[in-house]
Amino acid sequence: MIHDLSTAQLPGEEYHVCIVGSGPAGAILASELLGSNLRVAVLESGLHKITPRGDALRETESSGLWVKPWSRERVLGGASTTWAGLSSPLDDADLAPRAHLGGIDWPLPSAELSELWEQAAERHRFPGSAHFGAEGFARLRRKGDFHPGWCELEEKVFLAPVEPQNFGTECRQVWESTETTLLLDATVTQLNWDQDLQRVGSVSAMDRKGNTHKIRARVFVLACGGIENPRLLLASPGPDGVALGNGHDQVGRCFMNHPKSYAGEIQFRNPIRSAPYFFGCIDGGFAGYAGLRLPTKRQADEGLMNSYVRLEPLFPWTDNPGIEALVTLVKQANGIMRLFRKSRADEVVELRDYSETGDDSEVQNTRRGFGGWLALLFTVLRHLPGVLHYLVYRLSRKPAPIRGARIRAFMEMEPRPENRVVLSDKLDLNGQRLPHISHNVSPLDRKSILAVYSALEREVQELDLGTLEGGLTDSDPWPINQDASHHMGTTRMGRDPASSVTDPTLLVRGSGNVYAAGASVFPTSGCANPTYTIAALSIRLARHLEAQFAESNENRP
Ligand SMILES: Cc1cc2nc3c(=O)[nH]c(=O)nc-3n(C[C@H](O)[C@H](O)[C@H](O)COP(=O)(O)OP(=O)(O)OC[C@H]3O[C@@H](n4cnc5c(N)ncnc54)[C@H](O)[C@@H]3O)c2cc1C
Repeated sequence: MIHDLSTAQLPGEEYHVCIVGSGPAGAILASELLGSNLRVAVLESGLHKITPRGDALRETESSGLWVKPWSRERVLGGASTTWAGLSSPLDDADLAPRAHLGGIDWPLPSAELSELWEQAAERHRFPGSAHFGAEGFARLRRKGDFHPGWCELEEKVFLAPVEPQNFGTECRQVWESTETTLLLDATVTQLNWDQDLQRVGSVSAMDRKGNTHKIRARVFVLACGGIENPRLLLASPGPDGVALGNGHDQVGRCFMNHPKSYAGEIQFRNPIRSAPYFFGCIDGGFAGYAGLRLPTKRQADEGLMNSYVRLEPLFPWTDNPGIEALVTLVKQANGIMRLFRKSRADEVVELRDYSETGDDSEVQNTRRGFGGWLALLFTVLRHLPGVLHYLVYRLSRKPAPIRGARIRAFMEMEPRPENRVVLSDKLDLNGQRLPHISHNVSPLDRKSILAVYSALEREVQELDLGTLEGGLTDSDPWPINQDASHHMGTTRMGRDPASSVTDPTLLVRGSGNVYAAGASVFPTSGCANPTYTIAALSIRLARHLEAQFAESNENRP
């Protein structure tokens, strides 16, 4: 059942589970709890659609790398309403203890995670292991005329459903079910510690009229994203007056992102006509590409992070603003996209412009009214020759000559306590302290991606592919500096209470009944996009909560 908090007649009941946030973490958890006989409430700050109020509540302060406003969405479905949908499993080495990170590891076996990814694929439209395997996307390596036999580098596949899951709409059945109470316009401002119960008894949620409501539950799950999860804990005093879960001053620390940007390009000796596996394509319902990273052993031997690069083909029309404007307009008209995909359903459809990936583009995430859309149309018309050139190759099956490839880098950041979320003194429109995020790349982060570039440069020479121009150097200003919208690590899970906020079951330490879901619990991030693993962990948390309630005669964990 869906309610608006400001008008809802709530019976004042105590829910079994109260989930804060309806992005992938919260939505998948709620979906997995359906049929469990548990009364579940989902409190979502946004509405069905984006609103100026929701946009204002995205505000942050940041120092170091800038956190962009469109890296998060205050709306039903959270950032899955705008995400690109790319997934890849973490590598085994990401989960195992890494000596150069002080032995930090993931407190769950990789086999368990593999099983959970498979379930995420079966039930929530993520790609499964078969898609990532040799007969899945990797079979496209044989297609086209670019088949480098790397000596030092290793390939890693990233895949997205052609229509990425929007968990706001994807989970409609869950929201409408009588077992779930979805409260929209419910911005949780605090978790309230109950001295008698010795656990959190309720949360305070504010509606757009400024009224505060208390929602009671036996268990609370924070699923508000990697910035809001620690923000809420920091704003909520626990039994001793210290913020919940912050007994060891760990809440908000070890913030990680996947800083990304361009540096350098390869000019090919001979133009390439087709390389769908490396340059990106749609195949069998998934869009994907292969990135390049250093093998695990090399990373371990040299004490490096797991960063990677992607080769982005350069066409004669690349960087034409008219093309991105056209792509943005066409994406609005979902019908046209579907028609195009349907007409090419049995083919491998190769990327013809990077804007087609929608990868975090500012243009594609700008809010615009009628005037804005008109301006896009004018941009298309102003750059018409380039747009037409693109369209000829986009709509025909003619291979486009690719003379070069831009190198797009994605960095893994080491988890460092000084990269952190704290509460600012500035207030948001609800009178709550804004989150302040400080994060920057470390010398080790830089050294790791520089090692990938050095390896790529040697490969380009030795395989006589052409020349690598304007590569990456260890100098300032550091160019790989864009927020990837992957906010991780701020309530990290671990076995050691002194260095983690959540235990291996994702219970916030010292809270008794508050769990965290989402990438805030990642101890390290690898180079994979986080949501696949967020989904896996939400499935695992659902099974844990069900077991906990089942164990107790009184239905109490
Ligand atoms: C443009 C873009 C492209 C991306 N591309 C990819 C990609 O290709 N692959 C990938 O894996 N990831 C991608 N991401 C990241 C991905 O969207 C996130 O990892 C994912 O959405 C995180 O899920 P979540 O549920 O933890 O948080 P969110 O999606 O951020 O959802 C949090 C929810 O909590 C709500 N909320 C916040 N605070 C409160 C509060 N106080 N009270 C009540 N509700 C609250 C929000 O309104 C929101 O609905 C992308 C993100 C963006 C923005």
